[in-house]
Amino acid sequence: MSLRDYIVNVPKVELHVHLEGSMPPETLLELAQKHNVPLPANTLSGVRDWFTFVDMPHFVQIYITISNCLRTAEDIEQLAKDFLRRQAEQNVLYSEITYTPYTHYHQKGIPFREQLNALNRARRWAEAEFGVTMRYIFDIAREVPPEKGIVTAEWVIDAFQNPENAVVALGLGGYEVGHPPEKHAVSFAAAREAGVPIVLHAGEHGGPDSIRGALALGSQRIGHGVQAVHDPALVRELAELQIPLEISPTSNLKLKVFPSLAEHAIQSLIDAGVVVTLNSDDPPMFNTTLTDEFLQCAETFGWDADQVDALILNAARVSLLSASERAALEDRILDGMTMIRAEYL
Ligand SMILES: [Zn+2]
Repeated sequence: MSLRDYIVNVPKVELHVHLEGSMPPETLLELAQKHNVPLPANTLSGVRDWFTFVDMPHFVQIYITISNCLRTAEDIEQLAKDFLRRQAEQNVLYSEITYTPYTHYHQKGIPFREQLNALNRARRWAEAEFGVTMRYIFDIAREVPPEKGIVTAEWVIDAFQNPENAVVALGLGGYEVGHPPEKHAVSFAAAREAGVPIVLHAGEHGGPDSIRGALALGSQRIGHGVQAVHDPALVRELAELQIPLEISPTSNLKLKVFPSLAEHAIQSLIDAGVVVTLNSDDPPMFNTTLTDEFLQCAETFGWDADQVDALILNAARVSLLSASERAALEDRILDGMTMIRAEYL
């Protein structure tokens, strides 16, 4: 009937979403009660209010609290199941989640293998239950010293060798300013040597130099990358090399990277020929979903169903699945698009 119905129902792919940042207030409250972790509120509506984004320090505080409540492998499994249920509700057939295993190892002693097994139990459950799946980008929090970063790199390199583990890349996340990608060059060189793809956050708060640094290290896609818009030569380079950007508009607005959606760089980057994908980053913390990102961009930039489809197909095509898995995903999405078009447009 309408573009809105189409966006809600069309099959989607998401490449930039943090599992820890996807914890809904309901799960946080449940885990906090289970582990006796004090929260600023003891009711669901209170926790929801507290979740409302205020500023960066508040955001970091929520992230630390979430991490404090993930005490066991079962908690991680529950978080991943809740996440996949929400992805299925939005018809997100495939997600590449970013997850930071070192935090849960270092702070709470959960061995890497236990964390991986927990994620894989949730993944297989969602495959059987909803027909949706995920793969993992395990990231280094850029604040940690390089000798700690290499611990994550070694885990990823080892797990990547067996496709059953569903690990597809080594990532780099966290606050960019003061921590350029080169800081962890040793980890990313080791990953590349082992044939492991690398996907770095760059050009969110950091400028074009940060993006150039990530490209020099061999980043296959760029998480955010929106600051490229201040450097026309870099935009041309991204377009020519077809380096995909994982753009999360609501996250950028909340973190004050752009003053408004109308002033966001996404449309000008698309117009310049850059491969753009749309993502939600930390959805409950930014009070968004992947569906909402599409709805708001379509409204602000006047996108039609073809433009929505183009971004979804970009994500499927630049995902880190094997070539045959990627082709199967693309076929499934195209079939879904045809079906949903017949029904809603
Ligand atoms: Zn991110």
